[in-house]
Amino acid sequence: MDINYPRGPLREGEPIILLDRKDREYLARLDRNRPLAIRGGKVLVEELIGRDEGCTVRSSVNEPFLVFRPSLPQLIPNLPRNAQVVYPKDLGPILIWADLFPGARVVEAGVGAGALSMTLLRAIGSSGQLITYEIREDFADMARKTLSKYFGPTPNWILKVGDIETELSEAEVDRVVLDLPEPWKVIDPAWSALKPGGILLSYLPTVIQVKSLVDALRADKRFACIETMETLMRFWHIKGMSVRPQHRMIAHTGFLTSARRLADGEKDIPRAS
Ligand code: SAH
Repeated sequence: MDINYPRGPLREGEPIILLDRKDREYLARLDRNRPLAIRGGKVLVEELIGRDEGCTVRSSVNEPFLVFRPSLPQLIPNLPRNAQVVYPKDLGPILIWADLFPGARVVEAGVGAGALSMTLLRAIGSSGQLITYEIREDFADMARKTLSKYFGPTPNWILKVGDIETELSEAEVDRVVLDLPEPWKVIDPAWSALKPGGILLSYLPTVIQVKSLVDALRADKRFACIETMETLMRFWHIKGMSVRPQHRMIAHTGFLTSARRLADGEKDIPRAS
């Protein structure tokens, strides 16, 4: 069994998510020495250890909560954060458009709060390797703590404090996944790091950044299959006869741009339009 995906009864040290009657989420960790203070009451950790996920617990003020191990979409919006995390609606498409697979060797930058890092680690599995570059030491420290607290052991994760633009030193990499403001400065080092056919994927919040990246990829000519997309995800309210989209939605997060590295010495063929 993969160490990152515990199953069976809840154990000490594991992260849990508690849900109240309004489906509000509270992220916590099972620590015997620390009762969980939640909505003006206390939940005893002893009462949870050894129970199955999906159980109900009552706090000292008799409020019921459902308890699960957090899924990634439950965990990520509740992570302690320093930077804007990549949201689940974009994480799903990133996994497909960067074509992640178990065993993949992946380079990522930067770490931020670690939301994308944990998603990539889950996709590549224990036989893969993730090398993450982060320019800010304080962000790297916080992400390391967050992953060990809420994600689990990560023996196949190397977190390097450094500027990926100048310090990317890996070779024979399957995928390069970027969430930083100037990815066009990483095109050349990413080409050198990637295997032929490898995929570069970049997440960017604004159109000007996307244009700069795509123009630079086209001018470089050593990448092809350049595609840019965005994901709109609309949740629905379903209660009795009231079945409709929810009134509010996240209208904008970011754009994904993916491209494939050509073989050594090859240039992209001239485009028809
Ligand atoms: N994907 C992350 C959020 C990343 S925010 C998440 O889902 O949580 C962008 C991060 O890139 C910041 O932490 C920033 O410090 C880092 N960064 C910016 N430029 C960089 C560079 N040239 N090399 C490495 N990290 C960089």
